[in-house]
Amino acid sequence: MANAPRPPTQTAEEAGYDYEVIVVGAGVSGIYQIKRLRDLGVRATVIDSNDGPGGTWWNNRYPGARFDSESYTYGYSFSQEILDEWHWTERFSPQPETLRYLNFVIDKLDLREHMQFGVRADAMTFDEERDLWTLSLDDGRELSTRFVVSAMGPLSMPTLPKIEGMDDFEGISFHSANWPHDPPSLAGKRVGIIGTGATAIQIIPEVAKEAGHLTVFQRRANWAAPLNNSPIDEDEMNAIRARYREIFEKCASTPAAFEHEPDPRSFYDVSPEERRELWDKLYDEPGFGIHLANFLEIFTDEEANAEISEYIAERIRGRVDDPEVAELLIPKDHGFGVQRLPLETGYYEAYNRDNVELVDIATAPIERITETGLRTTEREFEFDVLVYSTGFDAFTGAYDRVDIRGLGGVKLSDLWARGPETYLGMLIHDIPNLVMLGGPQIAAANFPRGSEVAVDWVTPLFEHMWEHGHTRFNATEAVQQAWTEEVKQGYAGLLIRKAKSWITGYNSNLEGHEYGHTRYNLFPLGGVEYAKRLQTAAADDYSGIDLSS
Ligand code: NAP
Repeated sequence: MANAPRPPTQTAEEAGYDYEVIVVGAGVSGIYQIKRLRDLGVRATVIDSNDGPGGTWWNNRYPGARFDSESYTYGYSFSQEILDEWHWTERFSPQPETLRYLNFVIDKLDLREHMQFGVRADAMTFDEERDLWTLSLDDGRELSTRFVVSAMGPLSMPTLPKIEGMDDFEGISFHSANWPHDPPSLAGKRVGIIGTGATAIQIIPEVAKEAGHLTVFQRRANWAAPLNNSPIDEDEMNAIRARYREIFEKCASTPAAFEHEPDPRSFYDVSPEERRELWDKLYDEPGFGIHLANFLEIFTDEEANAEISEYIAERIRGRVDDPEVAELLIPKDHGFGVQRLPLETGYYEAYNRDNVELVDIATAPIERITETGLRTTEREFEFDVLVYSTGFDAFTGAYDRVDIRGLGGVKLSDLWARGPETYLGMLIHDIPNLVMLGGPQIAAANFPRGSEVAVDWVTPLFEHMWEHGHTRFNATEAVQQAWTEEVKQGYAGLLIRKAKSWITGYNSNLEGHEYGHTRYNLFPLGGVEYAKRLQTAAADDYSGIDLSS
């Protein structure tokens, strides 16, 4: 037996089960995970319900879709060849380019043959006798695997509002995350959009340019700040390439894994004039600086937050011609930066156009969708196209959709009925041999930076299992409780704890997610602290995790 292949490299016949690892989801995290597994020669595959890779970048094809991380901090850091070859053409890459990038990576690393598209796992059942998962797929197949890496995406389950008459509409309607791959022409059309979150704030200025008329239905205003995007030419790209190591090191040292880092001064140690000077500079700079390079007190202190909020409100008033519209666009129920900050390109100026109208549905709610449009308590509207930009069942939505059964047949969605409980945002007590990437209670971070950290923790865990002949891991109840409590306590001093945000589980369209049913969806202490917790968790042979054979 000395030359027998190690379990991860055995054939299915030798092992008696189909795969050593099945990765669910071919987005940013899933791509890197399969790369690490294939480097080790592990018998692994990726399944994805979409017809191609990219996850969020496959789904979200709406006009204006782009990330608001600097492109060169968003790409993978692990391959010098890819860093040398890829040219980001914009500081904040638009969706088509990001999807092209992910496909480029897949082809460069020969990963496509290890991916299966158009297949959805409807159920995952753990067999305690054999320490194996069985995945029941919607094409009728059942696949067995020792480990599952779930990379289903934190914002992958769109939620539609529950408004009477939605099926009656005779025009074209869709959720923003399901923008048709063959997009309808909006030229000259009457378009309605419900929602003013980060997605709608990207869509509105783009659609405004094309549509005959655009009506925006806003329930709550959202603070937004300029993206300040620009092209990257060959010279700048070369300069970025020369700086890549420095860029990634910097990202690893900041709370949100961006190059932006908080101003080290205290809000109260500088004069109001100096604060204004800083904000004037940050508001006009590219990216999240106004949020992440600001004074930390704006996230914790009501007075500091009120001052920055008033500053941003002034900037909005300066950009919107009609003072009444400007006031409607300024949030009154929460302060700046308390919810996830959308970055925008010409959002406020869109409302200066003759063909754009903002309708306040907080004072005159939508009563019903009609055959030709919708009716609020005050008015009737007619549309050719109606877009629901109404958000996602964040973090747990993708998990609730799959019938996941762990030890003793326990159902994951029952365990999480009142909110997620995890160990490190990656493992779940009594759901053994399953790892989550991008799951609930991970650190809030520039997504790919966080993904790489997670995959670089998961892969050695698997190697440890194979090396020691273990066939099952299960996070103990004690470490899970301690982690979940630490996540919860982390919100204590933060203004976000009161926010109506998907980060704290708010979604008015889902039962049990209404305001007040707080869910602690993100580890709020930042990426640096999170990385330390991961290091500690791996020390002492993963002492917080039961490993058995
Ligand atoms: P979202 O932030 O949850 O916003 C949903 C919007 O729809 C809100 O304005 C909400 O109003 C409204 N809405 C929901 N249900 C409604 C109903 N029944 N009636 C009327 N209005 C309703 O969702 P999102 O805009 O899709 O953004 C989600 C997250 O995706 C972002 O926070 C961000 O993390 C990510 N994202 C990232 C980027 C990027 O990287 N640049 C771009 C887009 C999205 P209320 O506020 O009143 O609930």
